[in-house]
Amino acid sequence: MDTDEPLWKHRLATKAVHAGQSPDPVTGASGPNIVTSNSFIARPGTSFSAETTVGDAPHLYSRWSNPTVAQLEKKLAMLEGAEGAVCFSTGMAACSGLLLRTLGRSDHLVISDVAYAGVLELVYGMFPRMGIEFTAVNTSDLEAIKKAIRPNTRLVYIETPSNPILRLADITAIAELAHVMGAKLAVDSTFSTPVATRPLEMGADFVIHSLSKYIGGHGDALGGVIAGRGAEIVGMRKDSLIHLGGALSPFNAWLILRGVATLPLRMAAHASGAMQVATFLQERRGIRRVIYPGLVSHPQHQLAKQQMKNYSGILTFQVDDGLAMARKLAERLSIFHYTVSLGHHRSLLFYLPTIDLMASSFHLEGNQLASYRDFAGDGIFRVSVGIEDPDDLCEDLDRALG
Ligand SMILES: *Cc1c(COP(=O)(O)O)cnc(C)c1O
Repeated sequence: MDTDEPLWKHRLATKAVHAGQSPDPVTGASGPNIVTSNSFIARPGTSFSAETTVGDAPHLYSRWSNPTVAQLEKKLAMLEGAEGAVCFSTGMAACSGLLLRTLGRSDHLVISDVAYAGVLELVYGMFPRMGIEFTAVNTSDLEAIKKAIRPNTRLVYIETPSNPILRLADITAIAELAHVMGAKLAVDSTFSTPVATRPLEMGADFVIHSLSKYIGGHGDALGGVIAGRGAEIVGMRKDSLIHLGGALSPFNAWLILRGVATLPLRMAAHASGAMQVATFLQERRGIRRVIYPGLVSHPQHQLAKQQMKNYSGILTFQVDDGLAMARKLAERLSIFHYTVSLGHHRSLLFYLPTIDLMASSFHLEGNQLASYRDFAGDGIFRVSVGIEDPDDLCEDLDRALG
């Protein structure tokens, strides 16, 4: 395959294997090389500044671009239907890079009041002293978003389904609201993946992923990506990658490339496994509530049906004394690992008490706290269902729950 043209027409599973990758023209290698060199032979007269040399080849220095990382960038752009993509060392580097490039002093951000904790901690912690204004709102409530948007709002930032409570946001409707007011929409689609949802096709301007989760898929590498329009991505490469400096290592790019090839297969297994585990828990004694976008009992199941082609592999459940149960499960589960992170081939589970998260990250009160508690009560077990046999997972949980 020597040009990308025909690949645009191919279906997702074919793109996941082939997009961005072609046999090495020198060695004929069919698989991708890991190019570890941090610098590349330059033509005399090549600019030394990121201001004038950004974009694709020729590669000059691996913080700017690298051949192995570039293959991953091309593949991810094609999976998201984006003109371009730029990779980062972590998901947080992608999130902070996007926020810091888009927003400056006296600009305003509308951000989901429940999102990846690190992102909200960054906004609450650093934005006030940088003079960046923000309003954290419940982004499942379109009226609340409409009220929050101001003339100086530059960016609306959402996550759907949101980490950790699995509350959804309507991408198409929010894109319209943002654009009417001249703001851009960024969607952290880590929980959905391009197999479930392609936010750019629904009107979003940027899509972000933590590649450490489903896209890498094996819990063995950190990474992040921003995908979007060509000119925006060139700007992100300059400001967010080259200048902020969180470049993805070629070793990790190679691992993640290997992971992406099986993304559609894995997502099918994650979703059917999660549906079986969610259904099992919903019927089990001692379980107060289960939330999974694929269950009709999810408060926004209708929206999930509209904008998710795959309900992904994450569910939450609640019990009476969460902390005591967390201790019990950490000790008694034999397949699930009791730990953070998600989207790995291996099943993971972690307890998130509401009070702790409010104090450390979300700081919600009134209606916003009430909406959080609607989804999470006093605390949730976030379960990332892996690709093991779901019968074994249900048996493991059944035994450990006691
Ligand atoms: C994990 C995660 C991030 C941060 O990604 P890292 O790779 O851990 O830096 C951002 N957003 C969401 C939704 C995540 O789950």
